[in-house]
Amino acid sequence: MSERDVVIAGGGMVGISLALALARRLPEQVRITLVEGFTLPPAAAAAPDYHPAFDARSTALSYSSEQIYRALGLWPLLQRWLCPIETIHVSSRGHFGSSVLRAVDYDWDALGHVVENAWLGQALLHALRAENRVELLNPARVVDAKPGREGVTLSLDGDGPAALTTALLVVADGADSGLRQRLGVAATEKPYRQHALICNVATAEPHAGCAFERFTDEGPLALLPLLPAAGARHRSALVWTLPPQRAAQLLECPQEDFLAALQQRFGYRLGRLQQVGARHAYPLALRHCDEQVRAGIAVMGNAAHALHPVAGQGFNLALRDIWALCEVLAEGLAQGHAPGSLAVLQRYRARQQGDQRRTMAFSDRLPALFMHSDPLLALARDLALSGLDWVAPLKRAFVAQAAGMQALEAVHD
Ligand SMILES: Cc1cc2nc3c(=O)[nH]c(=O)nc-3n(C[C@H](O)[C@H](O)[C@H](O)COP(=O)(O)OP(=O)(O)OC[C@H]3O[C@@H](n4cnc5c(N)ncnc54)[C@H](O)[C@@H]3O)c2cc1C
Repeated sequence: MSERDVVIAGGGMVGISLALALARRLPEQVRITLVEGFTLPPAAAAAPDYHPAFDARSTALSYSSEQIYRALGLWPLLQRWLCPIETIHVSSRGHFGSSVLRAVDYDWDALGHVVENAWLGQALLHALRAENRVELLNPARVVDAKPGREGVTLSLDGDGPAALTTALLVVADGADSGLRQRLGVAATEKPYRQHALICNVATAEPHAGCAFERFTDEGPLALLPLLPAAGARHRSALVWTLPPQRAAQLLECPQEDFLAALQQRFGYRLGRLQQVGARHAYPLALRHCDEQVRAGIAVMGNAAHALHPVAGQGFNLALRDIWALCEVLAEGLAQGHAPGSLAVLQRYRARQQGDQRRTMAFSDRLPALFMHSDPLLALARDLALSGLDWVAPLKRAFVAQAAGMQALEAVHD
């Protein structure tokens, strides 16, 4: 007999969201444990910059994520930290094409919302601490996992027991997942040979709720609208995809050189770029594992699929996975199946496979399409971009994919 029903290894944005979703969706008697290796801050901590998974980055939450967090009762907690995206301006440096997507054209209040990871983390942790159904082992790491007849036996290092068994282990320990490797779950990797440089930028002009996606010959550059902060009334979050050497250079150079380089790439749509916050860079790769479930095991979040950040899809997709897993586990439990039942987990896999495939293809093709050196292709791309303004169905398809519309059906079912 297992001592726990579900153990989640990894308390990043995905692990904590999953713990909260399970606590709200599964029957009372289901025992849920979350194990996080990094020491989480005490409940009263005010400073948001504490957790590597909730770093200086921002996340664009899609419409589907809004629906999921609403259904879980978490949206009101997040709301004060959210900056709505009312328009998305897509353009290409050195070419004539550009396209504007407007929320009003779809009868929506917003195309998505931007939240700083630090605040998202703060809100999720707050909800987790208020949720007495989830046992939190912290700081503690799951160092080994052995599937057997009685469930999965885990070895732990840190606060709490040294070993325990669980009916279901959810591996949510990030893109470099040590547990995935330990379990021999293969992952395919396609390096992009690019780094994402991220930082917050203060601008002279207000963003007016506009997110900018600009494609350049070096790679795509996104500026997402942020709420005002002390000392910076107009702020946007930059995600700038660059060749590794250029990223390293821009990471270290003086602020004025950085702002001049960015201004030259982005232009003056937000007026003069005035200030830049802490800069960080992440190497980019498309990582994905085909085998995401085994009896007693599910791999989720970045451990299952890490995407190019250009279309802001990774976390949104993970939230849709979370929603689907909760649904099939609840159905399975109602039919008398244990949470680790392979048949139940395969139902989850079958349900999310199409969404994962489409979302990965979407975020993989987008930067490649815009970086092509073939001038004919560039022309076709320009026409396609301008065409987005003329061809309503194409534009609608772009918005639908970015918003994760398929998941909406699942949430509203
Ligand atoms: C530059 C950039 C911008 C992005 N922008 C967006 C966006 O706008 N929208 C979007 O949807 N997505 C975006 N993403 C993707 C998003 O950040 C990821 O999908 C998300 O962070 C994945 O979270 P995770 O919890 O799976 O992994 P992680 O954040 O890596 O968390 C894993 C956690 O597991 C813990 N851990 C590791 N090993 C163990 C162990 N053995 N035992 C216990 N704990 C362990 C770690 O301490 C960590 O807290 C972006 C990504 C990047 C790089």
